[in-house]
Amino acid sequence: MSLQLETKPKAKVMVLEESSHFDLIIIGGGPAGLAAAIYALRARIKTLLIEKMILGGLASTTFQIENYPGFPDAISGLDLSQKMAEQAKKLGLNVLWANAVKVKTNKNLREVETDGKNLTAKAVIIATGTEAARLGVPGEETFLGKGISFCATCDGPFYQNKNVMVVGGGNSAVEEALFLTRYAKKVSIIHRRDQLRADRILVEQAKSHPKIYFFWHSAVEAIHGEKNVSEAVVKDLISGKKIKVPVDGIFIYVGSKPNTELVKDLLKLDERGFILSDEKMKTSAPGIFAAGDVRIKHLRQVVTATADGAIAADAAREFIEKA
Ligand code: NAP
Repeated sequence: MSLQLETKPKAKVMVLEESSHFDLIIIGGGPAGLAAAIYALRARIKTLLIEKMILGGLASTTFQIENYPGFPDAISGLDLSQKMAEQAKKLGLNVLWANAVKVKTNKNLREVETDGKNLTAKAVIIATGTEAARLGVPGEETFLGKGISFCATCDGPFYQNKNVMVVGGGNSAVEEALFLTRYAKKVSIIHRRDQLRADRILVEQAKSHPKIYFFWHSAVEAIHGEKNVSEAVVKDLISGKKIKVPVDGIFIYVGSKPNTELVKDLLKLDERGFILSDEKMKTSAPGIFAAGDVRIKHLRQVVTATADGAIAADAAREFIEKA
């Protein structure tokens, strides 16, 4: 059995022996992982990046990124991700398309298990990011892909002239609500408080948008429909009154949970599962570093993820040189 590695898009596929050793394995190909790869490859470290879905991570599904320095007219998440990936590939990045399921330490080596196969490295960077949190209400699972979505950029165009709802009050909810106004007739934001968590500039845009309506201190209690979503039960959290709101699509942006299942028995995590790391991105296990949204940190942004990636790669280089 052998593993397949992609070095360039549409380039010929390299073949690796089943058990292979690297200086550095980066798990996760979002902005943190790609920045780490760029720094590691420039330091001529033998590096493998493991990604299960798409280079660019969650950032690649963001319609517009307006706060990444250097792009005064904004850049789409996909374009920015592709540029980062292109930069890493120019340096010779090897990508293994696989799901990393467990990271272990064995004497002086780190072991990464991917879909049953074992790889080893002197150092590992965990850059696995987060995934969308669920509301946990009746109907949410039933109508996944049938009116319930976690990606406005992907599914927004299906809602031309329809009524959609966005649940949440953070940057994701408000940004994606603004994006949905391109297609939908009406966008209702359902938020559990009467103040949005999102950046002021986004709040101003949403509040002044003629297609955006707000349900303050409100929660979605249940989602109904036949084949597709047709109605949400919305509860006013102050009065307790429930109303049925006709709706064609519901986009859920109520925060995120870290992808740390693979290191839950190895690293110190907080109560929500985010990785504890220091200013050099060192975790509680020697030779294992964390970068990006998966860490306990103050600000989860593309700019802070890429900074984490650079620091983690440099700290990993120091560690590898001493190993
Ligand atoms: P977030 O900032 O954690 O916001 C989650 C929102 O969902 C909050 O408004 C929260 O309400 C609400 N919420 C949480 N649990 C809920 C529940 N069970 N029911 C209803 N509402 C619930 O998450 P995010 O917007 O996905 O952003 C994640 C991170 O990425 C953040 O650090 C964010 O700044 C960053 N991000 C940045 C940008 C940007 O800068 N352009 C874009 C996207 C994301 P409360 O406010 O009441 O807690």
